[in-house]
Amino acid sequence: MAIDGGGADVSEAPRRVPIEPGFFTVPESPGESPRLLGSRCTSCGERFFPRRVVCAACLDDGLEDVLLGPRGTLYTFTWVHLPLFGALRADKGGYGVGQVDLEEGPRVQAVLAGEREDLSIGMVLSLELETLRREENGDEVVIFRFAPEGAAA
Ligand SMILES: [Zn+2]
Repeated sequence: MAIDGGGADVSEAPRRVPIEPGFFTVPESPGESPRLLGSRCTSCGERFFPRRVVCAACLDDGLEDVLLGPRGTLYTFTWVHLPLFGALRADKGGYGVGQVDLEEGPRVQAVLAGEREDLSIGMVLSLELETLRREENGDEVVIFRFAPEGAAA
């Protein structure tokens, strides 16, 4: 039985697919930042993530799709020792989950990249994709997470 290994054809990058459509973009180029798919109220200008049909601030239903991120500020975070659902990796000492204030306004909850000592409240984070698992057809299933700005990918 052949084992898929280091000699595999890497000339074509695997296709990255979001774990759930409609929440974030998956850029063609791995060097490009993903964005969150949000809503902006055309009446009062409030922005939301995830997308909404009715504005939570003024109840207007005139919402348009906008891209949010990729940068935000860490409002608060906690450290979780449960394995990330559907992830390739088992618990390797836990991971951060934080609330991140996007530059555009909304506060979103997300998984954080980095070790516990890499994270501090108020730091600037940027959006990136994490591969949860690889499908049999080679597709990589990805989620978004926030990583400390300037951290090595
Ligand atoms: Zn509104």
